[in-house]
Amino acid sequence: VASEPKPKTTDGNGYLQRSNLSNDAESIAKNIIHHAEYSPFFSPLQFELQAAYIATAQSVRDTLIRNWNETYRLFQDKNPKQAYYLSMEFLQGRALLNAVGNLELKDAYAEALNNLGYTLETVIEKEPDAALGNGGLGRLASCFLDSLATLNLPAWGYGLRYRYGLFHQKITKEGQEEVAESWLESGNPWEIPRLDISYPIKFFGEVVEGSDGRKQWVNGENIRAIAYDLPIPGYKTKNTINLRLWSTSVPAESFNLSAFNAGHHDEANQAHANAAKICNVLYPGDDSKEGKILRLKQQYTLCSASLQDIIFHFKERSKNKVNWSEFPNKVAIQMNDTHPTLSVPELMRILVDLEGLSWEEAWNITQKTVAYTNHTVLPEALERWPLEIMKKLLPRHVEIIEKIDEQFLLSIVELHKPTGFTNFEDTLKKMRILENVELPPWVTSLLVSSSESEEVSSSEQEIDEDATSIDDSPKVTAKVTKKPVSTAPGMVRMANLCVIAGHTVNGVAAIHSEIVKNEVFNDFYKIWPNKFQNKTNGVTPRRWLYFCNPELSKVITKWLGSEDWVLRTDDLTKLRQFAENDELQKEWREAKRIRKLKLAAYIKEKTGYTINPDALFDIQVKRIHEYKRQFLNILGIVYRYKKMKEMTPEERRAKYTPRVCIFGGKAFATYVQAKRIVRLITDVGAVINNDPEIGDLLKVIFVPDYNVSVAEILIPASELSEHISTAGMEASGTSNMKFAMNGCVLIGTLDGANVEIRECVGEENFFLFGAYAHEIAGLRQERREGKFKPDPRFEEAKAFIRSGAFGKYDYTELLGSLEGNEGFGRGDYFLVGKDFPAYIECQDLVDKAYKDVKAWTKMSILNTAGSGMFSSDRTILQYANEIWSISPLPVP
Ligand code: PLP
Repeated sequence: VASEPKPKTTDGNGYLQRSNLSNDAESIAKNIIHHAEYSPFFSPLQFELQAAYIATAQSVRDTLIRNWNETYRLFQDKNPKQAYYLSMEFLQGRALLNAVGNLELKDAYAEALNNLGYTLETVIEKEPDAALGNGGLGRLASCFLDSLATLNLPAWGYGLRYRYGLFHQKITKEGQEEVAESWLESGNPWEIPRLDISYPIKFFGEVVEGSDGRKQWVNGENIRAIAYDLPIPGYKTKNTINLRLWSTSVPAESFNLSAFNAGHHDEANQAHANAAKICNVLYPGDDSKEGKILRLKQQYTLCSASLQDIIFHFKERSKNKVNWSEFPNKVAIQMNDTHPTLSVPELMRILVDLEGLSWEEAWNITQKTVAYTNHTVLPEALERWPLEIMKKLLPRHVEIIEKIDEQFLLSIVELHKPTGFTNFEDTLKKMRILENVELPPWVTSLLVSSSESEEVSSSEQEIDEDATSIDDSPKVTAKVTKKPVSTAPGMVRMANLCVIAGHTVNGVAAIHSEIVKNEVFNDFYKIWPNKFQNKTNGVTPRRWLYFCNPELSKVITKWLGSEDWVLRTDDLTKLRQFAENDELQKEWREAKRIRKLKLAAYIKEKTGYTINPDALFDIQVKRIHEYKRQFLNILGIVYRYKKMKEMTPEERRAKYTPRVCIFGGKAFATYVQAKRIVRLITDVGAVINNDPEIGDLLKVIFVPDYNVSVAEILIPASELSEHISTAGMEASGTSNMKFAMNGCVLIGTLDGANVEIRECVGEENFFLFGAYAHEIAGLRQERREGKFKPDPRFEEAKAFIRSGAFGKYDYTELLGSLEGNEGFGRGDYFLVGKDFPAYIECQDLVDKAYKDVKAWTKMSILNTAGSGMFSSDRTILQYANEIWSISPLPVP
């Protein structure tokens, strides 16, 4: 019998022969035209800007796919330990400039497009932002992917492919308006739909015991998660890793054809609609029960699909000799915040129910595999889900969580045996995963027998629930005489599950990691001190300096003598020796001015306002939140404006430096107070910007629709940036790092990564003000006791707003949040009034400092020079070495 013909391959391993891709401008132009002609997106007879963008992206994608394949093949062959970064958010922004930059093909593509009648700059503008995230946490995940690829580390990212990215923000006279943003509407040339890769996902149903004694999860709603791959190129390397995003659908048989034919069209399509809505939007509102179920479905989809995929690769690379104890030596899973917590019970379920491992074996493997990054110390932001809802949606997972909880209680009881159980009940209740759920009888009986033998009954203990400075809800110090019977619904505390299951828990800046250890998870820290680490965040210097600020990068390269700093940002410290050099200073200012002009043009286009490019550009861009205190900033501006109005023009010019105060950021659609802050900023801007007396001495701009691309325009043009959160409340911040890198001086509190930035750039190059984190609890207490005496300047600023100086909108409820202890607000929980005098005084120092051009330029240079440690390459190397134990594997 004649043998089947074999497919033609380059080697004996079945790998496909690679086609050649040439990187000269002429070949690239041909490739772009090829894609334009054969792309199904548009008429092949035309080559308009949109077509040019899509065809260019597809052409770049060819190279990315080739490199992706080589990287994947290497990982398959060498089977190294690989890290998997699970995140509900990836704020990727645009891909084109980053891709051609990382591939070192920017000049070739620019030339090719010129030959075709376009410029790279205009083509780039056609790309919509991939805004699959909210803010810092999502952008961090994206910076990490860039560093992972650049450092040749075996790693992949996993997320969800939301159909609508974060909403588009319109700024009207009424403040913020949200509009759905469909980044996929014109197709996404960067993604590769992997219709060959999909996994079953189940919801609801029930748990039964199989004939083999194993638990089986049966019936319920069944959907499929389908993979979409985004290749992530490293800088100056072939290594191209994967961001795999899951989309949701149902198999064809779920379409109810007979219902459809009977005219029940919606009913026929129900299963599909239910599946599709899982990936519709990021963070759907979760006030309703339906909303909560949808969020949990999203989280479980991410966890289950990713774990099935990880296990598929583990098995495939084990080449039929699966040894589960090897799993933690091959797989590291990082949970970016608590959203991927369900990875823990899902891995346990797969190992115990599907693979037949014992509970102990599975738990051992799980604990060695997963690690958790904490991103918030605000209790309101620590996820808790109602047990009842979870039980219905994920019945088997709740059984597993309950068992983990009980095992944890057992281990804690064992640990405490030598010291007895005095005051133990509260500690246990605080630490366990389940909240408002009765302790198992064996624990209760143990506590009863121990409290009987104790002299002080725990029921007479004074409980100071406000012992932590970062607690977000006002609490009273109560003398509890009788323990009330809790009627509150049972909850699952995701963070506690992460801390219990993870081998490592890390905070994201030094001060934050201390708060994690000493306050939020202190009980855990006491028993597992070695679990806790710090990994100060970082940002990729490629996107956030080299590509977005080419003029300044050129100056840096010239003075450092090479471009090595792009990979070794510590080299930036060598700029220090030239900080006072007149030549460098001149070039530095010229480079910054080019970016300031570009921003001025952008502001003109988006808002209609003309700004003075020689004024100080003072920027606060980030999510709008009370703790980030845009409110403090705008109150300071209101005060400044009032004082200006009281002065003669000469006095004004002498005291103040011309400033453009720029805000940007989105308020969560249902966060009313944040939306009022946006409204106040725009109202204040409308008055000040049209006041002829003030002219260009002060302008207040709200840049609409802040996202990654807008950040890439704003940050390079910045001279002063505001990071003024209430101390102890910002975990790290990452925009602060980007600003410093771009030679921007920071004004800020000692919070998050500001602390480390200030150390690195030098105290004299950072405008510090405000209360310290360790003082916050005491200050709040003072307020509650009515001891706080507001500064008259603070009262003046508020009264000016109340007077109607900025329009008719009723700001009573917003201003009320700064008052007393009752009423609308929460007694100025974020301590705006406390920090106000220090803030405006610090701003006066800024005015003076900016007038000394040479001294200011020196500060600017020293900020860039000191920012090297905030490269995400440094952060990722620390994760790789200290948490994941993975090593570089470069594609030859
Ligand atoms: N949103 C975008 C688009 C960003 O680029 C960043 C970080 O630079 C953030 C949000 C987070 O900003 P911050 O660290 O100031 O909260």
